[in-house]
Amino acid sequence: TAKQNVKSVIQFYSEDLKDSSRKRIEMESALREAIEKKQFELYLQPVLNLSSENITQAEALIRWYRPDLGMVSPAEFIPIAEQTGLIIKIGKWVIEESIRLLSELHRQGKYIKLSINLSPSQVNDRSLLDFIRCTLKESGLNAKYLELELTEGVLVDDFDKVSDFLQEIRKMGVSVAIDDFGTGYSSLSYLQKLPIDYLKIDQSFVFNLMEHESNQAIVKAIIAMATSLKLEVIAEGVEKEEQKAFLKAHGCHFLQGYLFSRPLTYDDFRKLL
Ligand code: C2E
Ligand code: MG
Ligand code: MG
Ligand code: MG
Repeated sequence: TAKQNVKSVIQFYSEDLKDSSRKRIEMESALREAIEKKQFELYLQPVLNLSSENITQAEALIRWYRPDLGMVSPAEFIPIAEQTGLIIKIGKWVIEESIRLLSELHRQGKYIKLSINLSPSQVNDRSLLDFIRCTLKESGLNAKYLELELTEGVLVDDFDKVSDFLQEIRKMGVSVAIDDFGTGYSSLSYLQKLPIDYLKIDQSFVFNLMEHESNQAIVKAIIAMATSLKLEVIAEGVEKEEQKAFLKAHGCHFLQGYLFSRPLTYDDFRKLL
């Protein structure tokens, strides 16, 4: 009967909910343990400079090896780290570790720039600025080799707060990139109001670049706009030669993607350089 159907739908639904909240709670306690036991590692994905065909930059991407389950994708655990506030601790580890690896590379004469992903709640954490400042100072690293990636989502939150945060970052000499550009809901006016250095074109425009003319139009427009605003453009998710040729022909400055290299362990990255 209809009534029974409704009941079973509700039962299914609440089983689902229980399942997902159980998973969340389980993941949260595993994450706490991971922080204590230092189960994280940073992988570095090279970024290719399209005019020199050199690697001048890389992006730090976190990896979590769970002893019981193996590798967990950041797409899976970063959202939970954000919801539970654990991202603050994890984010500080990412900053320390990035600066440590970067200093090591520089000591070997490999003057690479490294970008770090920041979550929205990190931007709201006032103590983060001092943390970055102190960690940089202790390392002796020149701040111009560090870059922070924010998504557009951060910018719709509290514009004045984000603006203050970014001005302080700029004062330190650290660069700023807008990640996943083109997928957020923020207005474009922030591009002229905030101290931004790079736009990273979202992968969704690049994956089907050759198949859809509309993606080509969007990518061309982003590059043209960025260039006239004196911003540099990094295309993400480049997997095919034709995509690279298109991006290069239309003045894109940097490229990141499996075509050139997947994210690598520190040792493999160092060898590649
Ligand atoms: P993102 O910052 O946009 O990073 C790019 C993602 O695309 C990475 O996934 C990278 O491995 C992947 N990728 C790069 N090139 C290609 C390609 O050619 N094809 C395909 N299919 N994928 C490509 P990953 O490492 O799984 O990271 C996913 C997301 O997790 C990141 O997206 C970022 O939002 C977040 N994340 C990673 N590390 C951190 C971190 O240390 N802190 C924070 N807050 N978020 C992080
Ligand atoms: Mg990123
Ligand atoms: Mg991205
Ligand atoms: Mg992303």
